[in-house]
Amino acid sequence: MSERPETADEQRDLAEPDQPEGAPEDVEELDEETRERRNLALAQVRTFGDPVLNSVASPVESFDELLLADAEQMIAIMRDALGVGLAASQLGVMRRLLVFQAGPDATPRAIANPDLEWASEQTAEAEEGCLSLPGIVVDVERALHARVRGQNMQGEPVLLEASGLEARVLQHEIDHLDGVLTLDRTSREQRRAARRALREERSFSPEDIAEPAGAEA
Ligand SMILES: [Zn+2]
Repeated sequence: MSERPETADEQRDLAEPDQPEGAPEDVEELDEETRERRNLALAQVRTFGDPVLNSVASPVESFDELLLADAEQMIAIMRDALGVGLAASQLGVMRRLLVFQAGPDATPRAIANPDLEWASEQTAEAEEGCLSLPGIVVDVERALHARVRGQNMQGEPVLLEASGLEARVLQHEIDHLDGVLTLDRTSREQRRAARRALREERSFSPEDIAEPAGAEA
């Protein structure tokens, strides 16, 4: 079944996915080993202020053992970090390679040279975390449905039709390969507050900004 969602409930499920890359909110509740593994993984991920995060990655041209090894390492780091996606540029490897796993039961996949071929006009706003922005969550509007063309690790063409969280993760990771962060996609107000929090090594989420009364329009 791959029909577009019809009911309000289904729409809401797609509109409010779990955070693409971010940590579970109850990190403190993880067992010690999981937390330690997560910390080791996160230590390998470049964070805000590192120029690689603002740089455009180059196309993958060689589909060799090295690429496969990179993809496997990225999947391991993504899983240990409890993330659902990771772009090579987040590790300082400036190649157009991403991995994703939209949900704990999904099979992790690696896509080289991903291209957002089509994005639905229908969008949804949701909170997004990012492994490169520790403790930071901002609202990001994304297309609800997306079609991504790319190549597998053997260089064969692949086509992904994604919705909801999966579509969001793919858009987030392709952004990384273009040097774009969630901070570039959120409101000016949230961007400013999030940047301040990063400088001061605090966490930030949209709830931290008090909504002025009657600002819902
Ligand atoms: Zn990210």
